Amino acid sequence: MTMIETNLQTVRARMAAACRAAGRETSEVTLLAVSKTFGPQAVAAAWAAGQTAFGENYIQEAVQKITQLRHLSPPSGPPLQWHCIGPVQSNKTRLVAQHFDWVHTVDRLKTAQRLSEQRPPDLAPLQVCLQVNVDGGATKSGLRPQEALALAQQVATLPRLRLRGVMSIPEPAPDFLAACALFAEVKALFDAMNAAGLALDTLSIGMSADLEAAIQAGSTLVRVGTAIFGGRSRPA
Ligand SMILES: *Cc1c(COP(=O)(O)O)cnc(C)c1O
Repeated sequence: MTMIETNLQTVRARMAAACRAAGRETSEVTLLAVSKTFGPQAVAAAWAAGQTAFGENYIQEAVQKITQLRHLSPPSGPPLQWHCIGPVQSNKTRLVAQHFDWVHTVDRLKTAQRLSEQRPPDLAPLQVCLQVNVDGGATKSGLRPQEALALAQQVATLPRLRLRGVMSIPEPAPDFLAACALFAEVKALFDAMNAAGLALDTLSIGMSADLEAAIQAGSTLVRVGTAIFGGRSRPA
């Protein structure tokens, strides 16, 4: 077994235990393997171990990897699904629209409009989450919670996008309960947006260090890098 395969088993076991503890079905939470800074061989090893959804932060690096891994698709196995989880500058929207299946980091209407206009007509709509900043971390991107509903209603009308949910990266919390409390704020916003008539199914919260708290709070997708691929030598 490769190290990546062993790590994937460990992460899946952690997710299953967290689901059990929260009284949720294992099938309710998707694992996104965050492969930023790791090469195509690492992605291929994870794919061989049954992982199909991958998250990338740096657009140029991702596009190179996506292109190099085109052969990992039917009939050799299940298709790869690529999620953009890094900031999307205006000059990068076209690459994102052309190469990714999902983007989790939309926080401005302008970006959403460009992504919709630039999504190639032969591809499925781009699946979108709005990034929300619940704890006011000053250096972080993301909408303020009170801005989220209005942007969501606008994004939902864009023809080449499909609004799926909310993503957040709270500051690391000192302990499990504090992490749960922060994630619960994101979940409350997600529920309020659905109560206002949006049909969101994706709550993208939780990473290597805090996926248990995120699943406790209602995460439907955890974004896990280090626990699968090991420590990164470049900053993220
Ligand atoms: C790097 C990154 C992750 C993964 O973080 P780990 O702590 O390595 O699991 C998840 N989400 C985003 C947005 C990231 O940038």
